Amino acid sequence: MNLNQLLGRAARSFPDRVAISHGTADYCDYAALARRAAGLAGAMQGPLGLQANDRVGLFMTNTPEYLEAFHGALHAGMTALPINNKLHEKELAYILDDAGAGALFVTPDLAEKAAKGLDIAGSKARIVVVGEAEYARHRDGDAAAMVDQGDDDLAWLFYTSGTTGNPKGAMLSHRNLWEMMLTYFLDVDRVPVNGAALHPAPMSHGSGFYGIPHLAVGARQVVPESGGFEPDEILHLCQKLEEVSLFAAPTMVKRLVNHRGGGDAPNLRTVTYGGGPMYVADLKEALARFGQKFIQIYGQGESPMCITVLPREDHADTNHPRHEERLASVGYAQSVVDVKVVDGDDKELPTGEVGEILVKGAVVMRGYWNRPDASAESLRGGWLHTGDMGAFDGDGYLTLKDRSKDMIISGGSNIYPREIEEILLRHPDVAECAVVGRPHEEWGEEVVAFVAPREGADVNTAELDQLCLENIARFKRPKDYRVAASLPKNNYGKIVKRELRNQLEAEDK
Ligand code: AMP
Repeated sequence: MNLNQLLGRAARSFPDRVAISHGTADYCDYAALARRAAGLAGAMQGPLGLQANDRVGLFMTNTPEYLEAFHGALHAGMTALPINNKLHEKELAYILDDAGAGALFVTPDLAEKAAKGLDIAGSKARIVVVGEAEYARHRDGDAAAMVDQGDDDLAWLFYTSGTTGNPKGAMLSHRNLWEMMLTYFLDVDRVPVNGAALHPAPMSHGSGFYGIPHLAVGARQVVPESGGFEPDEILHLCQKLEEVSLFAAPTMVKRLVNHRGGGDAPNLRTVTYGGGPMYVADLKEALARFGQKFIQIYGQGESPMCITVLPREDHADTNHPRHEERLASVGYAQSVVDVKVVDGDDKELPTGEVGEILVKGAVVMRGYWNRPDASAESLRGGWLHTGDMGAFDGDGYLTLKDRSKDMIISGGSNIYPREIEEILLRHPDVAECAVVGRPHEEWGEEVVAFVAPREGADVNTAELDQLCLENIARFKRPKDYRVAASLPKNNYGKIVKRELRNQLEAEDK
């Protein structure tokens, strides 16, 4: 089964429906998208000299052509290799070399960086700049027939953000993505035919995954003209388009909620958020501003978008006695996976106890590209070891307790930063915060909080300390506060705690 058969079906059944819009303008219908993907597939097999199962790099700002190239690679039976476009050229080089990319599609703004990356990697991969004449020739050239693929053949090689060591390529098969798509319909949302998947978030990540269920039903995908996350533009598109769904990291939701002006979002249907912690205080503000539009998912590249879900209904069920706890959780296991929490020996833990979260199901990756040892370790016993810590409650709702490496151990006690962050964010002057551990001679580690004030506000750390005293055990209180205008984030909007820890380490030297 080739996942791209979905595009073939859409082109046969709904040839005239708009497949892609660029901002509010129609870009192409399904017949054209399928034709262009087949043209690019022909070019990949012909002039670009690639074979089935070769990796086709996509190093692009969000543009309509991203979808043409992505589907072209699948159509040709090749593996799409979407790469985070904010990476440094050295990081790009690492991925191109590790994955053995045979070609690289880039947007003009990234062409120079891409060329440097290829140079560093010593790669002979052909570079194709979308929008240039060569690209148009490829796209409009002879159409190739779709190459059949086995369920286990790779559709998407997803490089992890590499917060520990070098990034690894999670091998996602056609079957994995098929399951991911079905699960969207089962657990997340229905997609109406007039629906629009809006892509302000990088298509090399969650937003790209969620384009697939929209394509499957012949709904449209919308690439903002800015190619990224601009609150005014998003709100404008939510006025002009119908039934808009988008995927956003919690930091993006926050920016949208705090954005003044731009008006309402009357046609916003669904915001699926995930990829990082959503704090209760922020979620409540989001619900107050936009209404019951929110659904949370917890997933990781290794089990794309599919571990748990907190559905719309749970956000809305304000009379539930554990409503607050549910908002602080990541919901319950999605339909296609089995999820459990285990101790250090992989033994399942009872309800309420914190341990590592394990996942099993047909959506789970086949392993890491060229890393048999890391694959065996991560998938030991037939379960994906997520590296995330959490605990189930009696109703099967899972609460995350940070990644194991972000946990702070002070005086022999485990401290989960998220718990402290939830408290600090209740203060009206705090816009964002991150809690990390700093090495300490006596205690092993001590708690340090980085805090960014809201616009126009000053943070009074004595008040924050008081808030902690009123809500959490004394030993968890930050011993030191650092106030900064904003906190470092990666391209996916996640706060990069490693940089904060490095900053503290550098100060100590
Ligand atoms: P990635 O593979 O880049 O998608 O990152 C996956 C990681 O992001 C997970 O292992 C979690 O640590 C974190 N994550 C994903 N979804 C959530 C969520 N809903 N709440 C908190 N953290 C999340």
